[in-house]
Amino acid sequence: MRGWMVAGNWKMHNTIDEAIVLSRYIVENTKNIHGGEIVLAPPFTSLRSVYNVIEGSHVRLAAQNMYFEEKGAYTGEISPSMLKDAGCKYVIIGHSERRKYFLETDENINIKTKKALASGLMPIVCVGETLEEREKGITEYVVGIQVKKALYGIEKINDIVIAYEPVWAIGTGKNATPDEAETVHRFIRDLIRGLYGGAAEDQKILYGGSVTPENIGSLIEMKDIDGALVGGASLKGEGFVGIINKVVEKR
Ligand code: PEP
Repeated sequence: MRGWMVAGNWKMHNTIDEAIVLSRYIVENTKNIHGGEIVLAPPFTSLRSVYNVIEGSHVRLAAQNMYFEEKGAYTGEISPSMLKDAGCKYVIIGHSERRKYFLETDENINIKTKKALASGLMPIVCVGETLEEREKGITEYVVGIQVKKALYGIEKINDIVIAYEPVWAIGTGKNATPDEAETVHRFIRDLIRGLYGGAAEDQKILYGGSVTPENIGSLIEMKDIDGALVGGASLKGEGFVGIINKVVEKR
């Protein structure tokens, strides 16, 4: 049976001192929780400091992005081995903000995903449709292409976490209803079943998009939703722990 995961994407927020305070709060206030995974994705500048806080605990570290080359003249980029060195277990790849503002393509996301796996990092690959695509009725077409292209040439699926994040729900306060989210999650799981057979049953698929302690309960009750990738609500210890507690209660 696949376990749950709640991951906090801090985006471009928190100084090193703020990151230490927040991660300490989360470790302290979730220490009796078992059976799932709690992941924090601070900005690069705080990775090591957060790792020093969570080391030896049940909380895991993720980066928000990486480059696919190991070293060289790539000013401003960070390699997979640098992330491992900083203590990361996971790396978020293909977040919609990276697709939108930094022009990341499905091809690029596929290369990064393969490189992360080869380097011993577990990718959290983000997919999701825009509002315009949803209104045109092409959500499954768009998400299907994103998933297939991200996974192209990858043999083992379960080392990857997929996060379905409808773009219109990210940072907008407008979350997908549990039924809307479950429909796409089921579609993704069916797609994975077609590509990887029985491994689909063990595949973690997270929902992301304006998740709060108030709305996570009905989302996590859905059969194919295995947890959440949380942005805004992960920046406040109480809210993030509230989401985790709800997931534990409903699972
Ligand atoms: C995200 O950044 O992945 C996200 C889902 O953000 P928010 O929870 O703020 O919508």
